[in-house]
Amino acid sequence: MIKENLNSIRRNIPENVTLIAVSKTKPISDLQEAYDAEQRIFGENKALEMREKYQQLPEDIQWHFIGHLQTNKIKYIAPFVSLIHSIDSLSLLEAVNKEAAKNNRVINCLLQFHIAQEETKFGLDIDEAKQILESDTFKQMNNVRIVGVMGMATFTEDITQIRNEFKSLKKIYDILKENYFKDDTSFKEISMGMSDDYPIAIEEGATMVRVGSKIFGARNYNIV
Ligand SMILES: *Cc1c(COP(=O)(O)O)cnc(C)c1O
Repeated sequence: MIKENLNSIRRNIPENVTLIAVSKTKPISDLQEAYDAEQRIFGENKALEMREKYQQLPEDIQWHFIGHLQTNKIKYIAPFVSLIHSIDSLSLLEAVNKEAAKNNRVINCLLQFHIAQEETKFGLDIDEAKQILESDTFKQMNNVRIVGVMGMATFTEDITQIRNEFKSLKKIYDILKENYFKDDTSFKEISMGMSDDYPIAIEEGATMVRVGSKIFGARNYNIV
């Protein structure tokens, strides 16, 4: 099942778009099945769960952290995480920088933006992002690299609204690129789109899509 799901999604994704298999809550055996079907990038949203899976699975997997990250949990993933999608404050970025330094690494990060109408989603607005990027604190960080932006659309059936929210993230990306990363070729990622909306996200410029349930099936914790 997982292999077939992956292959049918791959057929829908252009080559320049990266597929992140969101494996949160799923057992090691499911991840191994995806790995055997050549998937190498996995997304998790709990630090300890991600570390546990990292320890049990092959070393050539790239682990992407996609959830709200608590400062005191960074240490569990700092030795191996390949991309953190969810930077939503200067203090979190500072804490990641510190843990990355302890591991002699530079950790790639995305700035997470609040593009949805829902109140509950985490994320920055463009002014907050500018404040971070213009701060001396940020300029002195040597162990983090901002490589793009991330956002989540509203959970709605309204395709037009979803599309407009993705457009707004693309616009934010363009503004930041122009003003802060013009000559920085590593600033190139737009992480947007999940199981239900990734085709729209790709049309609106996503370079990374984060797909969970369409690969691994529904997650149990939604069932009451
Ligand atoms: C769970 C999750 C996904 C994947 O969701 P699906 O609807 O299962 O594809 C993508 N992004 C984030 C940030 C998530 O937490």
